[in-house]
Amino acid sequence: MTYSRIVTRDYFDGERHYRGGPFAIELRDGRIASVAPFTGSPAAGDIVAPFVMPGLVEAHAHIFLDGAELDGDKRGAYLKADLPTMMATAHANLDKHTLAGVTLVRDAGDRYGVNKAIRDELRGRDDAVISLRAPGLGIKRPKRYGAFMARDIVASSEIGPTVEDLARDGDDIKIILTGIIDFVAGTVKGEPQFNREELTDIVTTAHRLGRKTFAHCSGLAGLEVAVAAGVDSIEHGFFMTRDILARMADKNIAWVPTFSPVHFQWARPEVAGWDGATVDNLRRILDSHSEHTAIAHELGVMLVAGSDAGSHGVDHGSSLIDELFHFLHAGLPMESVLTSATSRPRKLWGLPPASIAAGQDAELIVLDRSPFEQPDALRAVRQVIVGNACAERRGEGMKPGRLDRQPETVHEAQ
Ligand SMILES: [Zn+2]
Repeated sequence: MTYSRIVTRDYFDGERHYRGGPFAIELRDGRIASVAPFTGSPAAGDIVAPFVMPGLVEAHAHIFLDGAELDGDKRGAYLKADLPTMMATAHANLDKHTLAGVTLVRDAGDRYGVNKAIRDELRGRDDAVISLRAPGLGIKRPKRYGAFMARDIVASSEIGPTVEDLARDGDDIKIILTGIIDFVAGTVKGEPQFNREELTDIVTTAHRLGRKTFAHCSGLAGLEVAVAAGVDSIEHGFFMTRDILARMADKNIAWVPTFSPVHFQWARPEVAGWDGATVDNLRRILDSHSEHTAIAHELGVMLVAGSDAGSHGVDHGSSLIDELFHFLHAGLPMESVLTSATSRPRKLWGLPPASIAAGQDAELIVLDRSPFEQPDALRAVRQVIVGNACAERRGEGMKPGRLDRQPETVHEAQ
């Protein structure tokens, strides 16, 4: 048996903030055995914490890509790198997620086999403090955007067999529904890659196989198709409207706004060489995105935090925290912001809640301070605990460890 006890001043359980502690959270054999008010003083070996919450969920990342690499030529050349090189990048990215307190990442696709390889490797390790949902490849149309992460569907008749094939070993079905944003023109490139009937076919087939769908989608034409077909989650969703959001709320369609890649282009225009007019477009796009995030919150749309880490200028781990700050700046309350990166994505994907309650598997993080007092506390993760495994901050990195001490020491100390 393994045992550990956390004594914390405050905690957030994935839905609500519990203040007025201290509280004791007892961990036994990798699960939360009890959560209760605590009196007296902590024993030797207790983890004394200012704040505890569930591990963070990053709902949109490309684990094989290094978002911190800013050089366009190097980024292009990397797409021809060998598998060991890409696996090494992915491992470095996992470490960055752990440093940021992320314990679950949903990958958004790559065509090199990296996301599945990483998922399978993590599943086989009992010392892992992070896990990955892997779609394998997404689906797209020939000669359209998304070649690095998706395979082509040429004829509509291929939809059924392709989705069946992807669902065999993929956790979710990723659809590249639209092109990317043309920042100079301030619009989305091209018509949607799939029409309403085709996308409905994809979603219905995926659901029949027990898989959720998530669609790369920006611009009104694509958003109309995504909502009509009832995808489970709209990714990016730039050029959002109130009307689309109202229908998303009705149909329980989640939104992962991924501010970070566009914000990077705005914050560092010299990297891509954007002129003043383009910077103005970027600012307008971001302001509208922020406004619609607030409307989404007001209408009760399931907002989920995802950064599109791996994209140009979007580093793994820290960018998820940036994304939470974009939600805060849009005016969302902290409780709701934290929900978007903890219980809500888990619920969306049909996973156990990872809440701070007796009987749950331990999947939690310890912060230096309460983010309810000081939002920057989200950037100060002290410890990550998943099952019997843990990682503790040491300098600039995280040191792996195991939670284990005997409960007797607690009784003696009391
Ligand atoms: Zn993406």
